[in-house]
Amino acid sequence: MDCLFCKIVAGEIPSTKVWEDDKVLAFRDIDPQAPQHIIIIPKEHISSANEITEENSSVVAKIFETAAKIAKEQGFSENGYRIVNNCGEDGGQTVGHIHFHLLAGRNLGWPPG
Ligand code: 5GP
Ligand code: ZN
Repeated sequence: MDCLFCKIVAGEIPSTKVWEDDKVLAFRDIDPQAPQHIIIIPKEHISSANEITEENSSVVAKIFETAAKIAKEQGFSENGYRIVNNCGEDGGQTVGHIHFHLLAGRNLGWPPG
């Protein structure tokens, strides 16, 4: 399958990994929008939030567990952070493999975009 993030999971495209287990991979974004910008993905190909079902939704909980673990390990859990999922064209999704942005290290504005 021609999917950028599946290729990162397979090791065909290099990435700076922050966390990996059997279900989830986290790596540094190539174009960081904050001092800390980490992408967290399921290893299984799910194209977007639209494809989350009763069968596969447990991996979303795993991703949030991973985010909390990374925030503690990287030392920004106390200052705070933002977890973002962009879905579809209006949501700003550019890679068709569901992913969550974990952003930290500066005061993030609101509303976004
Ligand atoms: P989206 O816009 O779909 O929500 O986010 C896609 C993210 O993937 C962007 O922040 C972009 O910088 C990042 N990205 C795109 N290509 C690569 C790549 O080859 N390696 C890494 N590490 N990040 C990438
Ligand atoms: Zn994929």
